[in-house]
Amino acid sequence: MHDTAKPNVDEAEIDKFSQLAHKWWDKDSEFKPLHDINPLRLDYIDRWGDIKGKTVLDVGCGGGILTEAMARHGAEATGIDMAKKSLKIAKLHAMEGNVTNVHYRLVSVEDLAAEAPAGFDVVTCMEMMEHVPDPASIVRACAKLAKPGGHVFFSTLNRNPKAFVQAIVGAEYLLRMLPRGTHDYHKFITPAELARMCRQAGLEWLDAKGLTYNPLSRQYRLSDSLDVNYMVVCKVPG
Ligand code: SAH
Repeated sequence: MHDTAKPNVDEAEIDKFSQLAHKWWDKDSEFKPLHDINPLRLDYIDRWGDIKGKTVLDVGCGGGILTEAMARHGAEATGIDMAKKSLKIAKLHAMEGNVTNVHYRLVSVEDLAAEAPAGFDVVTCMEMMEHVPDPASIVRACAKLAKPGGHVFFSTLNRNPKAFVQAIVGAEYLLRMLPRGTHDYHKFITPAELARMCRQAGLEWLDAKGLTYNPLSRQYRLSDSLDVNYMVVCKVPG
């Protein structure tokens, strides 16, 4: 259980992302995979969460790749992160694009859950939980932040030999899509572990899909294989 006296933040992880912050919107940078999967996840989120006109919270938003896309799609979007530099880039990018229905805040998800419980129609938390000391605490806070009947989305990396080969050996060493050390295999989360965290947070698991990479076509697609990168939708009862 997470000790609430200590923030659920790994400073080394925040530093890692801060150092790359100027590259968030460079589609050929380390963040290319996030740009590549963005249309797929936006589609999935909208299919389940129907986000137009709704309030959406994006936890661990980074430079706002997904947050801004949801705002452009018509949601009233808020992004939070613990890396100040990333939020600065996110704000600038929204300003340059005249996107006014997106807001960014430096606040932990646990603190925001205490401040604004049931404050959002939809909560998303993508590719972030494998970078924190206590992912279950993130799941609980996300569940608390969504309104009864609202949807909560997570994506992360599975922990098995195939995920190790693709997400670390492949992406960091062979294809050099990501800098070495981007991911720590031991922090990857299996669907069974995530399902348990969701259940314990009172969330009802609705569906899961793989974000599967084909190294030959260099494209991602949604699939039924949760072996490597996968995305989940849950509902808050009520
Ligand atoms: N969700 C974004 C970015 C994923 S990269 C996307 O998918 O496009 C992971 C992000 O999580 C980084 O921006 C990093 O700063 C953030 N992060 C890591 N630990 C965090 C924490 N404890 N609280 C909030 N954000 C965190």
